Amino acid sequence: MLPKQTTSTHDLIKSAIFSSCNDLGVPAFQEYKGRDWRADVYVASDAKKFAFEIQMSPQSLKRTLERQKKYIRDGVIGCWLFEKAPSKLSDERPDLPLFYVTEQEGKSFSVSLSGRKELKLQDFLRNFLIGNVKFCDVARTAREQKVKLVFYEMECWKCKAMNHIYFVEPSFRSACNAVIHSDESLWGSDKNAHRPEIIALAREFIETEQGKHIKLGEIKRRFSKTVQNSYMSFGCYSCNSIFGDWFVMEAELEIKYGHGQVATIERSITLNEIIKLNIPHWCFSGELPFCDST
Ligand SMILES: [Zn+2]
Ligand SMILES: [Zn+2]
Repeated sequence: MLPKQTTSTHDLIKSAIFSSCNDLGVPAFQEYKGRDWRADVYVASDAKKFAFEIQMSPQSLKRTLERQKKYIRDGVIGCWLFEKAPSKLSDERPDLPLFYVTEQEGKSFSVSLSGRKELKLQDFLRNFLIGNVKFCDVARTAREQKVKLVFYEMECWKCKAMNHIYFVEPSFRSACNAVIHSDESLWGSDKNAHRPEIIALAREFIETEQGKHIKLGEIKRRFSKTVQNSYMSFGCYSCNSIFGDWFVMEAELEIKYGHGQVATIERSITLNEIIKLNIPHWCFSGELPFCDST
């Protein structure tokens, strides 16, 4: 009797890629030999050639780039599916489409685009093969954002009036789900709370039945003696004293990790302006435009 063969995860993924390509109607070959390389799965689709490489064991970035060079030389798009990131790979790179493969229940697999999106293996392949996954140097905010405003109490340090202020969750995202921090603030906290679209939302809420108990002072530029400068800030509805950034951030942390929320609202908003950040990434935004489109 032959010993029972156990198929490695690597080989399971290889055959899953192979059969997915067959289902998609693109010619695929396993263990395809090129000049001085051998691809786990090789795909010749229209004018393009692809090599899919599954890497379940650690492989250094240096070695990966050496192997990738051969594919580039031969006009093949080498696409890497790693279990874990190769050490020393900090930023995503245009010469290295590299994603992460995970086993799901029932011997199916999914591919993660560095945590931004997770697709079923077959959906990933289909999109990758038709060029729906593209390298972009910048990430930019999607026009539509889902936001949550969390209101909490803030006693005025000067006149002791009980005010309310709020913070905004989560950070804005690109259409491909990259996190976009607009950190122009002094202490590195997100200043989305002071954006006109958000202020409008808060103002609208305090006009409603559920929001009418909220005491929200004006949100505007105020001079801070601490930093000897003026900046957009919350302030007291009664005496107009500034609620300093540092002070607000401390209070906010306490609310985030404890209690004290007095009201929350969740809405979709349309951003007035696009925020772009230098985040090199392999962009997949589905029906929406890529991050680098104008
Ligand atoms: Zn006051
Ligand atoms: Zn993107």
